[in-house]
Amino acid sequence: MPTYSSALDVLRDVFGYPAFRGEQAQIIDHVAGGGDALVLMPTGGGKSLCYQIPALLRPGCAVVVSPLIALMQDQVDALTQAGVKAACLNSTLDWREAQAVEQAMFSGNLDLVYIAPERLLLDRTLAMLDALYEAGKLALFAIDEAHCVSQWGHDFRPEYLQLSALHERYPAVPRIALTATADQATRNEILSRLGLGEARVFLSSFDRPNIRYTVIEKDNAKKQLLGFLAGRQGQAGIVYCLSRKKVEETAEWLSAQGYPALPYHAGLPAPERAANQRRFLREEGLIMCATIAFGMGIDKPDVRFVAHLDLPKSIEAYYQETGRAGRDGEPSEAWMAYGMQDVALQHARIAESGAAEGQKILESQRLTALLAYCEAPRCRRQVLLNYFGEERVPCGNCDVCAEPPELWDGTQAAQKALSAIFRTGMRFGVTHLTDILRGKATDKVKQWNHDQLPTFGVGGDLDDHAWKSVFRQLAAAGLVHVDMAEHGALQLTETAREVLKGQRTVQLRRPMRRKAAPAKSSRT
Ligand code: ADP
Repeated sequence: MPTYSSALDVLRDVFGYPAFRGEQAQIIDHVAGGGDALVLMPTGGGKSLCYQIPALLRPGCAVVVSPLIALMQDQVDALTQAGVKAACLNSTLDWREAQAVEQAMFSGNLDLVYIAPERLLLDRTLAMLDALYEAGKLALFAIDEAHCVSQWGHDFRPEYLQLSALHERYPAVPRIALTATADQATRNEILSRLGLGEARVFLSSFDRPNIRYTVIEKDNAKKQLLGFLAGRQGQAGIVYCLSRKKVEETAEWLSAQGYPALPYHAGLPAPERAANQRRFLREEGLIMCATIAFGMGIDKPDVRFVAHLDLPKSIEAYYQETGRAGRDGEPSEAWMAYGMQDVALQHARIAESGAAEGQKILESQRLTALLAYCEAPRCRRQVLLNYFGEERVPCGNCDVCAEPPELWDGTQAAQKALSAIFRTGMRFGVTHLTDILRGKATDKVKQWNHDQLPTFGVGGDLDDHAWKSVFRQLAAAGLVHVDMAEHGALQLTETAREVLKGQRTVQLRRPMRRKAAPAKSSRT
């Protein structure tokens, strides 16, 4: 059995890399020395080595808890190739295979074992861990994808809640929890639910300098997507949509347009889903049209773009999804088209979620933060990284830096828009309000006598497009709330009153009219 004198030896001899990246060395030192850790590192940052190397430095077998059964075998194969004794224990093994793994673990013939959480918590597995613990042969616990413990995240796994028992049962074994999800609320949830109060937190920079961010205003999403894809033939990418139906339609449509695309969502039969995932990983230049069901743990280095046809639910979700682009460090694109309808749909999702009131408020705040990102006249990267607590100078690699939006004093326009909302009883959506402002006597306007309002026709100076942009920016600034229970009706918030009373000014950006970013090269 090889013995390694230092982490650097293991990195070089086993994994074949010359140097550590970022905070890997400190994390490995801390865990190898027996400390608990919470590691927050972006996708592709190199989290695996943070537990794999301490696993080799400490005596006994390391237990890696991961919800990604489909990917365990890949990890084990890669480790085995590097000469590490690794195996996995999950529902894909028959009892004979499982028994062989357990025996190897017990007789000290394994350095690392990957276990699905539900398997770990079986009495049988715990009894085996008890025995290993007694013999001093448990090296560490790694809890991968630790955000799965967050009850409100879309990756929630109930079994993760029980992982706090590991600490009580095996107090002398260090634990390292890892995730690419980093907003403060989730971070706190992980620390408290996994009983990691004493753990050292390693927060890496979440910057992904090779990803270029672009947000455009949704107009004709399909056409806009096609514009974005022009010149990107042969590139692998992910297109996220909100609904399963839209996933299927988009995949079919893209294929018909000459961009080979596959669908992926939780409603597809498991074999088809697995086959599509496999093809996306192994073949070149495929586009995966998917709901958020696709992505966690997908390690494809050359995903050149992630496009969002619908608004995600938070900056956290957006960042995790876009983070799947460019893991190889090569230039990549994060592109999103969004409109007011998206905002309404996301508000509806929150309203109908059945969550407690406090949670709904938190989710609404997260959505508002994402809207502010979409509408901000500031460098996209600055806004994103600020959200994760990092200060930045403008990046020069996003649409806003490339083409800074023009700002204007929109106080008067905002007052007109807000007063249209107020005078119509806060019961109408953007289209009707825009008609009133522009003085269009539509049937609906006449039916409600809205052509008699003092606000009727006061907004002739801006076109429909500009008014829609004003409304979106008012929502992003928290002056207006979109109520989906009222079919997307706009309502005033407390701060809106300050604007109406002239106690507050409003800076707006000119409506976005950007074209898709030009593709730099089709295939590199
Ligand atoms: P994460 O789990 O954080 O998404 P991985 O652990 O899968 O990231 O690592 C991403 C890629 O970076 C992998 O291909 C891995 O081999 C590589 N990598 C990790 N650490 C280093 C390093 N110190 N030097 C070179 N490559 C590294």
